[in-house]
Amino acid sequence: MKTVRRILVYGIALVVLLGAGGYAALCFSPALQDRVFGMMVEQVMSRDTSSLTAEDGLRVGICGSGSPMPDANRTPACNIVFAAGEMFVVDAGSGSWQRAASWRVDAGRVGTVLLTHFHSDHIGDLGEVNLQSWVGGRAAPLAVYGGPGVERVVAGFNEAYAMDRTHRIAHHGPEFLKPELGPMEAHVIEGVTHGSGSVVVLERNGLKITAFAVDHQPIEPAFGYRFDYKGRSVVFSGDTHKSAALAEAAKGADVLIHEAMAMEEVAIMEETAKRNKLPRFEKILHDIPDYHSSPRDAAETAAAAGVPTLVLSHLIPPVPGWFGRILFLRDTGIDGVDTHLAFDGMLIELPAGSKDVKFSDLGR
Ligand SMILES: [Zn+2]
Ligand SMILES: [Zn+2]
Repeated sequence: MKTVRRILVYGIALVVLLGAGGYAALCFSPALQDRVFGMMVEQVMSRDTSSLTAEDGLRVGICGSGSPMPDANRTPACNIVFAAGEMFVVDAGSGSWQRAASWRVDAGRVGTVLLTHFHSDHIGDLGEVNLQSWVGGRAAPLAVYGGPGVERVVAGFNEAYAMDRTHRIAHHGPEFLKPELGPMEAHVIEGVTHGSGSVVVLERNGLKITAFAVDHQPIEPAFGYRFDYKGRSVVFSGDTHKSAALAEAAKGADVLIHEAMAMEEVAIMEETAKRNKLPRFEKILHDIPDYHSSPRDAAETAAAAGVPTLVLSHLIPPVPGWFGRILFLRDTGIDGVDTHLAFDGMLIELPAGSKDVKFSDLGR
């Protein structure tokens, strides 16, 4: 027994010594530093994500599962749909492009952005999506779809980035960064107003994208989107109060990605803000529940629509992941609905010709 203990102690001491020696060598040897850095870069740059755009099904990457409330682990709203060999960005919350970029996706394949509405947690990174896809070699101007008002949002971002584009063209040359592909183009989705109908936004190469109105009153327009491709379908709720129109539009879909607000926790926050004399925060916390949905609302909408897989995203308030699973999923148990909690980096795969829904982690 004594011998075993001695071997263990010597073993640990050896590992500590080797670790300390290695760290000391790294601190004092530029050659070793460069070698380690080169290995890190190799690991990042050699990552092949081309299978994400393979035309064998529908895929969704969650590049933002958070809300406007600060959260170290969750970026505001952002989703990327990989379908028909293209990448479609659904909402571009502040800072969200960096999440997608960290997956090493081919930015030049982003040709379309669909905005659910114009709250800042859904549009804050629109300028970056445009800039990075341009630098990534996009073949046409970025098409940005949204309700009436999208032309103002697009014009504003185009203007805000005008100097940046000038600087980059001057530096890298107009052959590399084609000036005509720099500014975004707005596409106004007409004919969808609160409580009325849906409209096909685009249909090509077997992919159909439909917009429909949801209930984020007084915010107008406020849309959700449905993607249908090769017999598989995914629906995004956007921001909404519990919505019958959403249940209708999501009928028979495979996956519903729905916003969620833990109402009891927001009430606790409001009470706490009041006690701590934070009247402006208290007012906002008081106002927000009436245009969002509880996790239970989302589960009931999924059940009404006959959608078997529900993913809660746009999570309010921010809580650590392990605790979030407890808080957000505690009241979602409904027969026939399998509920998941989104995280930044979540990949949802819907292979063509099956009913499977696979979840994995793209990292961040
Ligand atoms: Zn909103
Ligand atoms: Zn929002």
